[in-house]
Amino acid sequence: MSDQRETLDIDVLFVGAGPASLAGAYHLARLLARHNEQSADKLELSIAVLEKGKEVNSHALSGAVVDPRALAELFPDDWRQAPFEAPVLHDQEKFLYLTEKRSVSLPIPPPLSNDGCYVASLGKLLKWMAPKVEAAGVDLFFEFPAAQALVEDGRVVGVRTGDKGVGRDGRKKANYEPGIDIRTQVTVLGEGPRGTLAKQLDEQLDLSAGKNPQVYAIGLKEIWEVPAGRLAPMAPGQVIHTLGWPHGFHTFGGGFVYGMQGGQVIVGIVVGLDYEDPLLDPHTMFQRFKTHPDIARLLDGGKMTFYGAKAIPEGGWWSQPRLSGDGFLLVGDSGGMLNGQRLKGIHLAMKSGMLAAETIFESLLEGGATPERLARYTGKVESSWIKEELWPVRNFHQAFDHGVVTGLLQAGVGLVTGGRGWGFKNRLATTAGHARLKKLNGNGRPAARPAAPKPFVPDGKLTFDRLADVYNSGTAHEEDQPVHLLVHDTSVCVERCTAEYGNPCERFCPAAVYEMVEDPAAPQGRRLQINASNCVHCKTCDIMDPYQIITWVPPEGGGGPNYGKM
Ligand SMILES: Cc1cc2nc3c(=O)[nH]c(=O)nc-3n(C[C@H](O)[C@H](O)[C@H](O)COP(=O)(O)OP(=O)(O)OC[C@H]3O[C@@H](n4cnc5c(N)ncnc54)[C@H](O)[C@@H]3O)c2cc1C
Repeated sequence: MSDQRETLDIDVLFVGAGPASLAGAYHLARLLARHNEQSADKLELSIAVLEKGKEVNSHALSGAVVDPRALAELFPDDWRQAPFEAPVLHDQEKFLYLTEKRSVSLPIPPPLSNDGCYVASLGKLLKWMAPKVEAAGVDLFFEFPAAQALVEDGRVVGVRTGDKGVGRDGRKKANYEPGIDIRTQVTVLGEGPRGTLAKQLDEQLDLSAGKNPQVYAIGLKEIWEVPAGRLAPMAPGQVIHTLGWPHGFHTFGGGFVYGMQGGQVIVGIVVGLDYEDPLLDPHTMFQRFKTHPDIARLLDGGKMTFYGAKAIPEGGWWSQPRLSGDGFLLVGDSGGMLNGQRLKGIHLAMKSGMLAAETIFESLLEGGATPERLARYTGKVESSWIKEELWPVRNFHQAFDHGVVTGLLQAGVGLVTGGRGWGFKNRLATTAGHARLKKLNGNGRPAARPAAPKPFVPDGKLTFDRLADVYNSGTAHEEDQPVHLLVHDTSVCVERCTAEYGNPCERFCPAAVYEMVEDPAAPQGRRLQINASNCVHCKTCDIMDPYQIITWVPPEGGGGPNYGKM
């Protein structure tokens, strides 16, 4: 056991080993190498990436249909060797409107066409990129969660990693090691959606001032292995997107089914975390989705082998936080770089990482990463194809605040007005998702929907409960550690939330982390139990809790899902 906190100096630190950070770190290393080959005036920089997962892809979860645009810029010589499952079979692409039992095939609107894209596993893609990043001279540190941004006089001077070897009750265990202080010239936050440090900096430095609040969705996904010779095989590269059931007219989202190699099928749904009904349950919606005759047919005779869930930042252009500040930049999902209309963020994440790298490189060549020089990153984003892609859909998600029909009409209006909203408005406002949750009426029913939801009983073959799904996410945490879901006032759960919202945490969490249990010793005989070891790191609780009293903090490094196994 050592109580001594170590300090490490790294010039440029990328937090999170997602596509944004890996692309950024690689591009920076390459710019540096090229400069040092060509110039007598050498620039020596240490570059590192910190990742909380055990491996580069342990926490990587995506669909994924990948637009290869950024990948081709980053690896012009060999991007086609990336481990894609298959090119999208454009002539077999389907866009279906579902009712509970039927489907109608819709024409694919041009912006939603996936022609030229690839069905891929993000985990496999990152595994392919990581050795190239390391070979370029970047250090990759796994099992190191960044727990705190180090801010001195308003400048981000680095990060503190999480402690190891602390018991559930806060005692230091025999293997205790305090987190390391990593001091940097520039810290790049590529933590994905609802990043821990990004949230801290937003609170301290008001990065969202003057912006629309970020709004999120939760994506839930399973992978199935379907033996050859079934009635309705999904060909590798086949892509189906759905609208309608089970989301209905008040909830944003849709479903997806993608064909991979070896009879594997990806099936999933996206549910906007700005729904109104506190009794809505995204995990149950996902299970119901698979019972639709069109979807069940595709999975018939197969076996579910993998499950995962993760938040998606859907707000678009107007919800992007300030992207730079003194000593830091935000990239990828942390910077709101996702096209909600296309459900695509991987290529935008990578491109933003590359633009961050160029900004840092130019700033350091000029003599230092001043806030003014780092602020050029925003200009680079604005003059890149990131803006070209996100600007025409800048009002896409906001219109769904008024229901799905309005949202779809807005998508159509946007096509002919260059993305303007109702009344030819350049910018439509929106509300933070949790604030749209409606209170129950006095009968324990949502005011908006008087009928009780039909109880859902999974059959264990096509449909599963949360625990069976969590098992297939490979999630594991050190049991004897402090709970990493900080509920700042648990009395609210019993004294207010039960009556006002019916404890929606039991439903919006896709991993059975939150449970209201009977306890005679507790005031009012009930209390909140947090099953932290089930947590799949999706961040939904931090986003959707109506009282905003849940803070997700990284658990001990290496804990969490094992998405890399697929
Ligand atoms: C179900 C689903 C389907 C999707 N489908 C598609 C699709 O088809 N096509 C597409 O292009 N995009 C899709 N997306 C979106 C896409 O996955 C993201 O936009 C993209 O992964 C963002 O990349 P990123 O590098 O910003 O963040 P991430 O990929 O989220 O990576 C962030 C990394 O940072 C790590 N991390 C976070 N916090 C810390 C910390 N404090 N310390 C250390 N490490 C940390 C995480 O463990 C993670 O590995 C989908 C997303 C979901 C959830």
